[in-house]
Amino acid sequence: MSTLEGKQTRAFQTEVRQLLDLMIHSLYSNKEIFLRELISNASDAADKLRFEAIANDGLYEGDAEIAIRITFDKEANTLTISDNGIGMSAEEVEANIGTIAKSGTKEFLQSLQADQAKDANLIGQFGVGFYSAFIVADRVTLMTRRAGLPVSEAVRWESAGDGVYTLESTDKAGRGTDVILHLKTEEKDFLDDWRLRSTVRKFSDHVSWPILMLQSKGYTPGDDEESGEEASKESDDTPKWETVNKASALWARSKSEITEEEYNEFYKHVGHDFEEPLAHIHARLEGKYEYTVLLYVPKRAPFDLWDRDRKHGVKLYVRRVFIMEGAEDLMPRYLRFVRGVVDSTDLPLNVSREILQKNPAVDAIKKGMTGKVFALLEEMAKSDAEKYQTFWDTFGVVLKEGVIEDFAHRERVAKLLRFSSTQADSKVQDVSLDAYVSRMREKQKAIYYVNGESFEAARHHPHLEVFRKKGIEVLLLSDRVDEWLVTHLHEFDGKPLQSVAKGGLDLGELEDEADKKELEKQQDDFKELLERVQKGLGEQVKEVRVTNRLTDSPSCLVSGEHDLSASMERILREAGQKAPVTKRTLEINPAHPLVVRLKNENNDQRFDDLSHVLFAQALLSEGGQLEDPSDFVRRLNGLLLG
Ligand code: ADP
Repeated sequence: MSTLEGKQTRAFQTEVRQLLDLMIHSLYSNKEIFLRELISNASDAADKLRFEAIANDGLYEGDAEIAIRITFDKEANTLTISDNGIGMSAEEVEANIGTIAKSGTKEFLQSLQADQAKDANLIGQFGVGFYSAFIVADRVTLMTRRAGLPVSEAVRWESAGDGVYTLESTDKAGRGTDVILHLKTEEKDFLDDWRLRSTVRKFSDHVSWPILMLQSKGYTPGDDEESGEEASKESDDTPKWETVNKASALWARSKSEITEEEYNEFYKHVGHDFEEPLAHIHARLEGKYEYTVLLYVPKRAPFDLWDRDRKHGVKLYVRRVFIMEGAEDLMPRYLRFVRGVVDSTDLPLNVSREILQKNPAVDAIKKGMTGKVFALLEEMAKSDAEKYQTFWDTFGVVLKEGVIEDFAHRERVAKLLRFSSTQADSKVQDVSLDAYVSRMREKQKAIYYVNGESFEAARHHPHLEVFRKKGIEVLLLSDRVDEWLVTHLHEFDGKPLQSVAKGGLDLGELEDEADKKELEKQQDDFKELLERVQKGLGEQVKEVRVTNRLTDSPSCLVSGEHDLSASMERILREAGQKAPVTKRTLEINPAHPLVVRLKNENNDQRFDDLSHVLFAQALLSEGGQLEDPSDFVRRLNGLLLG
């Protein structure tokens, strides 16, 4: 092992110079990541020491308590990250800190410099590591001694990031590495106890090694968990170290060692929730890519569930170092309620959102996590209907988006859907499509549904009358997303989904032959009347015909099989889009007393008023709006007074 003679000045490898240059001159949006990078290095060094010490526990030098310490000095304007990990020999410092030994470095940096240099995030693709110190420091001093080497064989490395660095021998009593950052004037804000602590907690809470900081002023004795021997040896006015991070990666522990309480406590932390979660799934996935997931379904909807800029979601960790939170590339939008962590072995530490989109491991992780969430929900639906109902009531409307957005999982989502139906006529959405299908009448071919503006509107939809009479179950849809849902979910279990408000009523074999004949006959009997009504209503209707769909109501409106539904038209119009106004068919109930009266009406004015009122009623009863309400009121009053 060679010791260094005097102070030597060396030039950085070209690639390092380029990287440093980019780093210093590119603006980082979150500069504090330097702390994460240095803590991560310290943590790695601790891991390495632990590993090497298995074969040679002399490396501990009598001090097996590994920790990462963060101190700062406001007068000297320095921030120091120290570890008592493996440390580096002089050769290692030169090899590791003066050069970048990664294949493809040159090409990568060249491509960066060519046109993308402005995007500092791209540097992250590479893993900036130690050099990120120069984001906030204009000079960095590194003091290190490899575990097991004599105290005098430590190394002092220093650079101002300007293309050269110096190396010299020094004494260092403790093994490991101190990285001393001489902060740029404009970065002095980092010399703040609170800021450092919160940054550590934000990014490195789950580094499994303790991250220690000196007790801050105003500290109350008694809270100190570090009241071991070390503390009692010290006199009272010596500040004590305290652990800033949780110092344990819960998800990395085996399931059998983790209590329900621990899972719940961890959820409160990652989910930013004070309530316990509804359910969790903890799994390690191995294959081409390796990762661990610990995912939670909350009990309550977060306040930002509908906020496109929401911050929380699944936290991405790479080798237990926090990378980012709420990355959409990791979880489909319709599962955005899921909280927790995914810890990947295959992603680079300094991965940015841009890089996430391109990394093949990300797709695999997303698929794997989506599958796990489905498994969790399917299991819940199967084994705990009550719990699943809580889930559905809270997040069902979000999950429904899956039918629209995720073709590949459409069927799996469909099985998880729950609806209200005419079976219970209850607002609680608890009817699965499987349950519906199992209850279908013998000759029933379609799954029937009706859309309404509200549950009540759907429930009282005039089109339901004949279905109720014949005892055919109809799903009652009233969530906004349902309009889109039914345009994407065309069938389930081989059975088409059919709106009761669209197209001619064809109940197929469920229909009585005699009823059909009767209707045809009435169509003829009413021919003259129907033509007269249509003439009176003019452009408002496409056609007027008699129907057997109604039992209690005098009239209803029917859309064409392929037309936009009336409520969809309304939604589009409200959203400021130009929706085509589709004319609909007015169907009248020949058995209704008002229709009978219409048939016998001799007064032209009253006939016209009554036709208009029948049309208006049909529109109103399905939750629609009248174009000219005062005209309706005038006609109705005329009839009431006449
Ligand atoms: P990376 O960590 O991605 O390899 P860095 O630039 O952060 O890249 O570090 C380069 C190398 O320097 C590390 O691989 C490690 O060997 C060494 N190193 C950095 N920091 C420390 C430290 N605190 N203790 C021991 N070795 C370190």
